[in-house]
Amino acid sequence: MVTMPPEPPPPALKLEIDREALAGNWRALDRLSGSAAAGAAVKADGYGVGAQVVVPVLREAGCRNFFVAHWTELAEVAGLTDPAGLSVLHGPLTAADAAFAKALGVKPVINSVGQARLWLQAGGGACDLMVDSGINRLGLPMAELGDEAVQQLQVDVLMSHLASADEDVALNERQRGRWEEARSQVRHCRASLANSAGIALGSGYHGDLTRPGLSLYGGVPRQELGPHIRQVARPMAAIMQVRDIASGDSVGYNATFTARGPMRVATIALGYADGYLRCWSGKGMLRSQGRPLPVLGRVSMDMTVIDLAAAPDLREGDWVEADYDLAEAATASGLSQYELLTLLGRRFGRDR
Ligand SMILES: *Cc1c(COP(=O)(O)O)cnc(C)c1O
Repeated sequence: MVTMPPEPPPPALKLEIDREALAGNWRALDRLSGSAAAGAAVKADGYGVGAQVVVPVLREAGCRNFFVAHWTELAEVAGLTDPAGLSVLHGPLTAADAAFAKALGVKPVINSVGQARLWLQAGGGACDLMVDSGINRLGLPMAELGDEAVQQLQVDVLMSHLASADEDVALNERQRGRWEEARSQVRHCRASLANSAGIALGSGYHGDLTRPGLSLYGGVPRQELGPHIRQVARPMAAIMQVRDIASGDSVGYNATFTARGPMRVATIALGYADGYLRCWSGKGMLRSQGRPLPVLGRVSMDMTVIDLAAAPDLREGDWVEADYDLAEAATASGLSQYELLTLLGRRFGRDR
């Protein structure tokens, strides 16, 4: 006979979400957006933080415009906010996508003449329009702004996306100019250009709506944002085993660390399958009440070994926190701040 399994106990791995910091980051970015309102990119499960956690917090803070990438991502966020304020960045690739948008009442972001036609064939209605002003990735080419189907669209937000907003390069101003040009050629209600970094480029980049993602979750893509942004996500892992090792003993796969004297070490339930990649081998830092607990040897799939010299009192079941200030962690690991967030895996408990 098959019976329902009992609720599993809480995992030995959790992502602590600082909701105050998240709301504070949105309010800061909204303020820095001047007369424009700040929306929120919540694609990729809220950059790995958990869309179901972040959308209600951002709504409560005052956010009304949310962006996901895939149609499948609507499952997590529809029902948490007004569908009319939800945009799907990839737009409709098939008639089924367009019909799905109509059924839910969310806005597709139209990225091409083909997508414009699909949307009109599905019955049209409010949509957003992405114009490619120089990133050459996804978006309507400038040369096709005058297309008949495009001109028939009922465009709420006319947007474009900056390729290098985190750098001071001439491309930013060139893209801004093309975005202004697009605004003069297509009827629309609101205009949007800036991601997190773009917000720091000044009022000329703000339009009516900004689209921060990274900085909501604690990322600092430009120094100007540093004083306004606080860390949101804190990876925590429980100690599964404590052991004392002797001089000459090695730790982990391929024995890349060898003790030079007697040591107390601990094994924690955090590994590369959780997004704590092998680049942290011999390099990452965990902490207990501020006390540093360096990673020893290789990070394994489900486990990492740390040095307990600074906290010999720690025992099985105690929790430690990984250093995960995004700007610092990116410099230390070689991963981007975006990767550090979106890597965080499904085994993390994320309290709802
Ligand atoms: C992801 C994304 C954003 C958010 O960018 P950040 O750099 O994370 O602030 C904004 N606009 C579009 C079109 C995006 O795809």
